Amino acid sequence: MKDYLVKALAYGGYVRAYAVNATETVSEAQRRHGTWHTASAALGRSLVGGLLLGATLKGEDTLTVKIQGDGPAGAIIVDSNAKGDVKGYIQNPKVSLPLNEKGKLDVRGAVGTNGVFTVIKDLGLKEPFSGQTPIVSGELGEDFTYYLAISEQIPSAVGLSVLVNPDETIKTAGGFMLQVMPGASDEVIAGLEERLKNLPNVSSLLEEGKTPEDILDIIFEGDSIMILEDAPVRFHCECSKEKFSTAIITLGTSEIQAMIEEDHGAEAVCSFCGNKYHFDEDELQGLIDEITGDKK
Ligand SMILES: [Zn+2]
Repeated sequence: MKDYLVKALAYGGYVRAYAVNATETVSEAQRRHGTWHTASAALGRSLVGGLLLGATLKGEDTLTVKIQGDGPAGAIIVDSNAKGDVKGYIQNPKVSLPLNEKGKLDVRGAVGTNGVFTVIKDLGLKEPFSGQTPIVSGELGEDFTYYLAISEQIPSAVGLSVLVNPDETIKTAGGFMLQVMPGASDEVIAGLEERLKNLPNVSSLLEEGKTPEDILDIIFEGDSIMILEDAPVRFHCECSKEKFSTAIITLGTSEIQAMIEEDHGAEAVCSFCGNKYHFDEDELQGLIDEITGDKK
């Protein structure tokens, strides 16, 4: 089954609902970064959360989620956009903690319980929008929920989950996000709260072969939902050798000269996807020539 995200309306349009199967997306991140199971779950949940927030964007808008906790995983950075592309990395990919008291991957132990949760949105305006909340849980679903409630004033529920196989590969990954729209009646909010008492574990439902549409049906238990669209999602990084050339040029001629003389070349590694770009001495000299205007 390919990864995709479903957008729907429930409760007569007063609740926006999103569900996503991101198993392949998170699998690719796991392979690219070589994450160990607890780090895989922390990065995977963050990627799923990024996709769900990204689903609320339009056109060319993009967003970045930065989770800086005090746990051994260090910072987690995720970029997503309105087209269903997501990329991300975790500062320390080699985190493997014992399971927590519930027998689950200890994401809170990896992320930590103190720190800052930041979302930066580039909506094509002069200044990007930036919102910040403290980390309240470290399990990440609750942190996305808290961010939406406090920073964007949208009462929401976010469920993020990742199942990891014994060989460190990803079994399933996915999530859902429900948002209450302004003007929703007390009955709608009370009804939704009742539903949220028994939130399904998305990765287990995906393991049973359930689709994102099925997951929304299970959450709303037969209440009619209106599917608006489904759209593919994927791990995607737009880095290129050209982009890294531009970055090297900004270092200046003496720095590049040092790379030629001391290292006889340079290697740039994209932190988002792990792709490596090698620059030999001739290519570095070409960049110096570009700076000095001495184009051949
Ligand atoms: Zn990249």
